[in-house]
Amino acid sequence: MESNVINFYEILQCDRNASAEELKRSYQRLVLTFHPDKKITSNNHESFLNIQKAWSVLRDPHSRKQYDALLSCEEHKELLLYDTVSVLDMDYDNSSSIYSYQCRCGGNYSVCASELKPPEIVIECDECSFSIQVIVPT
Ligand SMILES: [Zn+2]
Repeated sequence: MESNVINFYEILQCDRNASAEELKRSYQRLVLTFHPDKKITSNNHESFLNIQKAWSVLRDPHSRKQYDALLSCEEHKELLLYDTVSVLDMDYDNSSSIYSYQCRCGGNYSVCASELKPPEIVIECDECSFSIQVIVPT
């Protein structure tokens, strides 16, 4: 899955939990490298705009908080989706009506047949923080 969210912390060369003061110092340091005396080419013009944009969002505690939430959401989708499987790839237990699928951690993804709603659902592992996406045929 492609990320659509630009990492402003990377742009400002700061840590996610950097203080407002650290962000400010880093921003000022980066902006100095684009001093008007130095040549601004079309290449570094874009990074200059990104630095400005990153700073305008992260300098304000309220917009920073909103941005952090967006970033975590995006990372969650990217990092924790372990696999996409079809319902047909899952093991089905007749007596309990539960579909299950083994996670690489040794844990299980399990879902009750009645919870399977097309076109797809996401199930979390019972042991780790991974999830799988299950394609449910209509
Ligand atoms: Zn797991």
